[in-house]
Amino acid sequence: MDATEHVPGYDAPPARTATPPAATVIAVANQKGGVGKTTTTVSIGAALAERGLRVLVADLDPQGNASTGLDIRVGDGEPSMVDVIVDGTPAADAIRATAIEHLDVLPASLELASAEVELVSAMARERALVNGLAGVRDRYQVVLVDCPPSLGLLTINAFVAADQLLVPVQCEYYALEGLTGLLRTIGLVEKNLNPGLAIGGVALTMFDSRTRLAQQVVDDVRGYFAGRAFETVIPRTVRLSEAPSFAQPITVFDPESRGADAYRSLADELLTRLGLAAEASPRPSGGAA
Ligand code: ADP
Ligand code: MG
Repeated sequence: MDATEHVPGYDAPPARTATPPAATVIAVANQKGGVGKTTTTVSIGAALAERGLRVLVADLDPQGNASTGLDIRVGDGEPSMVDVIVDGTPAADAIRATAIEHLDVLPASLELASAEVELVSAMARERALVNGLAGVRDRYQVVLVDCPPSLGLLTINAFVAADQLLVPVQCEYYALEGLTGLLRTIGLVEKNLNPGLAIGGVALTMFDSRTRLAQQVVDDVRGYFAGRAFETVIPRTVRLSEAPSFAQPITVFDPESRGADAYRSLADELLTRLGLAAEASPRPSGGAA
């Protein structure tokens, strides 16, 4: 990988003129597994909802971790992401409210894995998610799409639906490895399917301050992505790793924790970048950042 000019379109986010303003769609993507995509999606979603923004988490990973992390399970026969993108079921029929005010989920289950195959022969197979979200986009201010750990058709659908990408990068030795493939895919989608696509932000995750290596990775990633990397670095904490098994986002599971603080400040940076800060309600005192 060489110069950052290969990263498409960052400086030119698309202008929005629709009334009522449709949600900004953010795909949280990195084809590596275990880098913090789902944790970032769920935590930022909850932090934005805490500030009064109307947020939809769209779970595009058959593992369904974003759904279960927000205590939403897809029961037998209940509509979910697979029905929306393969069969054209209205998203509104599949969307569920979470325990958190202003935060909804379009949940996924393992059945979504079949979409990767079933969509191959479908008309406009890359646009299934765009079409699926179209009917609900004006109900939200932000839609966060939790991508699977691959660059297959599901992720392509997220890239086509997205205004911008949020790329979590784990602070470990091989952090930048594999990003070439991601950037190439982004470039192809930008050229052929979604000219407005841009990397809106790179989030450094699972930072362990005890290792010198982690700081080196932060410096490398900041150097590589220049202004795209968020200032906030997410620490590796036990509480963040425990939250999913309690089916709660960190802001609820342990609101005063370092992890909750970090994700609140990441969410606030995102709000500023999106130009939505003025629409957010102030944090109650005692809250983070
Ligand atoms: P991905 O969605 O990219 O596969 P996850 O968000 O599921 O990654 O994170 C992978 C694992 O690491 C999960 O078990 C998650 O709970 C844990 N994890 C994520 N972020 C942190 C963190 N900052 N500190 C500690 N554990 C984390
Ligand atoms: Mg995940």
